[in-house]
Amino acid sequence: KSVLAVKNLSKIYGQEPNSVVALDHVDLDLAAGEIVMLMGPSGSGKTTLLQLLGGLEPPTEGKIKVNNREWQEFFREPQVSHFRRDMIGFVFQFFNLINALTAEENIALPLILAGQPKKKTMALTEEMLQLVGLSERRKHRPSELSGGQQQRVAIARALIHQPAILLADEPTGNLDSRNSIEILELFLRMRDQLGQTILIVTHDPYVATYGDRVVLFRDGRIVDAYNADKIVGKN
Ligand code: ADP
Ligand code: ADP
Repeated sequence: KSVLAVKNLSKIYGQEPNSVVALDHVDLDLAAGEIVMLMGPSGSGKTTLLQLLGGLEPPTEGKIKVNNREWQEFFREPQVSHFRRDMIGFVFQFFNLINALTAEENIALPLILAGQPKKKTMALTEEMLQLVGLSERRKHRPSELSGGQQQRVAIARALIHQPAILLADEPTGNLDSRNSIEILELFLRMRDQLGQTILIVTHDPYVATYGDRVVLFRDGRIVDAYNADKIVGKN
């Protein structure tokens, strides 16, 4: 089952003669429950693709379908934020948590902001705390948690709306190898237990071995896509 279908997607920033082609006719499909790693040199268009998928920038050309619904239909509509939050969850290199709030309050925040009933908010927050293994740390503030634990809070927060796709931009870029592995194993567990579809941008070839598939960008184009089994070092 296709969760994401990107067709002929292009993004040009700025006006001639100073325009920059950030994405050049990209096609990409993600199946349900697939973990795909996006690699490529700096400036090759990875961040731009995430921004388009997240609805933060409009495409210049092409189509994005999430769960068979046209992204563009919603782009200008007031319901865009509603659609976006049901479809896409975001995780970043720097965890972007609110330090004045506890771990569980950070996780619950999207539901509180969406005005969800308290009972539902508490039940879903509990579920997420268990999924990411932080039930015992629920009352801690981000500054009292390890980097890996902070990233787990951020992942729980991103998943609380049960989005179709989790987009992660260098999610282990700020973590040591032990904490990175902890996060990568959490991603595998989310795929296996929830069937979560995950798209991860990484520069790290070791991180890429955790993907079901690696897609390589260069100059705004996909130049290679291969199974992670082919990556040297995968055991
Ligand atoms: P990455 O860490 O993936 O290399 P960048 O550092 O290139 O990302 O970009 C960080 C942010 O700055 C992105 O949101 C991107 O849209 C924006 N950005 C990158 N290049 C430019 C540019 N030439 N002009 C304006 N904004 C840019
Ligand atoms: P990556 O994430 O792979 O480093 P980006 O998507 O950040 O690549 O950038 C792709 C190209 O688009 C780069 O040449 C970058 O400078 C340019 N770019 C990105 N964002 C902007 C922006 N907001 N305005 C102008 N140029 C941008």
